[in-house]
Amino acid sequence: MRVFRISLLIAMAAAPAGAQQWLNADTSKKVNQSNFRSLEDWPAPNEFRSASGAPGGRYWQQKVDYTIRTSLDTVAHAVTGSERMTYHNNSPDKIGYLWLQLDQNVERQDSRAATMTRALPPKLANLSPAALRAIGLGEPFDGGFKLDRVELVDATGGKTKAKYYVNGTALRIDLASPIAAGQASVVEIDWHFNVPENGRNTQRNARDKVKDGWEYEVAQWYPRAAVYDDVNGWQTDQFISQGEFYLEFGDYDVSITVPHDHIVRATGTLVNPEQVLTATQRSRLASAWTSKEPVFIVSPAEVMKPSSRPAGTGPLTWHFTAKNTRDFAWASSKTFIWDAMGFAYHPGQTPIELHSVYPRDGMPLWDKYSTKAIRQTMITYGRMAFEYPYPQASNVHGSVGGMEYPMIAFCGARPRPDGTFDESLPFRLISVTIHEVGHNWFPMIVATDERKWGWMDEGMNSFVQYYGEKDWDQSYPSRRGPAKLIVPYMKDPNQTSLMTETDFVFANYGNQAYSKPAAGLVMLREQLLGPESFDRAFGEYAKRWMFKKPQPADFFRSMAQGAGEQLNYFWRGWFYTTYANDQAIKSVETQNARDLVGTESKGKFYNRITIQQLGGLVLPIIMDVTFDDGSKQRIKLPADTWRFNEREFPYGFFSDKGVSGVVLDPDEALADINRDNNTWKKPAPLPIP
Ligand SMILES: [Zn+2]
Repeated sequence: MRVFRISLLIAMAAAPAGAQQWLNADTSKKVNQSNFRSLEDWPAPNEFRSASGAPGGRYWQQKVDYTIRTSLDTVAHAVTGSERMTYHNNSPDKIGYLWLQLDQNVERQDSRAATMTRALPPKLANLSPAALRAIGLGEPFDGGFKLDRVELVDATGGKTKAKYYVNGTALRIDLASPIAAGQASVVEIDWHFNVPENGRNTQRNARDKVKDGWEYEVAQWYPRAAVYDDVNGWQTDQFISQGEFYLEFGDYDVSITVPHDHIVRATGTLVNPEQVLTATQRSRLASAWTSKEPVFIVSPAEVMKPSSRPAGTGPLTWHFTAKNTRDFAWASSKTFIWDAMGFAYHPGQTPIELHSVYPRDGMPLWDKYSTKAIRQTMITYGRMAFEYPYPQASNVHGSVGGMEYPMIAFCGARPRPDGTFDESLPFRLISVTIHEVGHNWFPMIVATDERKWGWMDEGMNSFVQYYGEKDWDQSYPSRRGPAKLIVPYMKDPNQTSLMTETDFVFANYGNQAYSKPAAGLVMLREQLLGPESFDRAFGEYAKRWMFKKPQPADFFRSMAQGAGEQLNYFWRGWFYTTYANDQAIKSVETQNARDLVGTESKGKFYNRITIQQLGGLVLPIIMDVTFDDGSKQRIKLPADTWRFNEREFPYGFFSDKGVSGVVLDPDEALADINRDNNTWKKPAPLPIP
């Protein structure tokens, strides 16, 4: 069937003379209110961040290297550490003092996170200990960093006590003299802290008692340089737990001393396997890299058997190095079963090591799915963003529900203590693994500011995660991604725009930072740009910002430039406002075309479908039109349809048959919040009296 598009002419002809066409039809307003206009909130491009969305010609970022010696005390549940931090000033500025992040201080009784007015439930009586801790109540805990030594190291290696100041979760260290551009400075810090049980105020690092003993997930655990960049200067936002972290890239050399019977996984590469693994384990590892299935390095039967550890009884030091990462985390336990396999993108490539560690409590799921889900992540993210550039990726079972660090993820999904589980649990484990390992791309490598822009890491990551799940299984029950899953949130009067900074988002952070941006990007890919155009632009964005620090406008500009599309209406509608999509059919009129244009149009119908936009969000129009003979026609109109009038559009077309029905957004692909006004059916003819 041929469909003639004449609606633009009709729309212009239908507009009364002098009518104003902007969204807010207030003629006293001289301001252009069109949602298609440029975004006034964007910073002007400059030599550091270009108008194309790429890093500018004079883009710079700091580099911070760490050498850390640490030990775990499994009686006191405490971590003690000593670090040497080398701060390379690549900025054009003189740096007179350093700011560091002291994220453990969130666990202090008087921390801002503990005292902040969270949504306090009306009755405390029935709350679990974990829920009480989450609102800063429960049994007292001596948390937070104790700083034992802070010293400046001069060029000759001489050390002097530093003047320093602690402000909540931030530490300022005054330097003896400013670091000039291109120069470096060294500080040394000794510290210790108690590892919180089950995460307390934050779900980032924890100890967890499983069947065979304690597991330790150690993160945000050493004083870490805050970011100094061209946008914030020093980014000193307090850690109050929702906004995760924003750090500089650097090289790490970390020695971790733990009890003899422990197995350690960490960021980076283990450089002394002959000191901490048995000969059997080393040969199993060597065979794992070419295996098509995960290989047990420590099998369930071997856990905690002396034969699974090198001879001797004293503490062992596990030595790891990592290059160009923005953080370092680790996990240690005597309860760990360990499996591993390799993954290569290309024949001849040194395989990337994929590791999973979990206690018996994680069986029978972790052995089946964890390492394979890491492999899936490598494949999908490798295709949509860039190939994984690090030598290994690990997944660790523990009480942290889901958290990411470079090369290491903490995931919580596990069976009940009796080994039973719901049907949904395998999917939860696969999803959380793809998600947390996927964070290696966003924001561990495409290193966005998580303290400010939750959607740039959680949303972008949840978006790619959705495709990882589809790659795993076309009928995977994804919780995030498809537009129709975000509809209930789009109706929520309390939602905050995606451009609300992370720590101001009071309620519904999961929808705000994860689901809505993921659904928006799926819509942008599938409905607005098409997969080919989207993927080209998205891949370019990811690659141009690898190991760099993009801001929101860098992403928006990269996508618009790469796709060659003016996407202001979409950035404004989906990211800067809480507009919803509510397209409605106002009327459908069908006339015999002969009455309009003469006998040569005999047998043709002129149809006019008037569509309204009641929710403020500009999106394309997708509709299925059914004709009198039952045949169907899919009509797709670009978002530009709304350029002259964002409230109402009369779409006109000729057809050979009369229209008997219309359905807007038939695939529920545009998150339309009210489907009651999406359908029209030709009324049945009146009975002849
Ligand atoms: Zn996440």
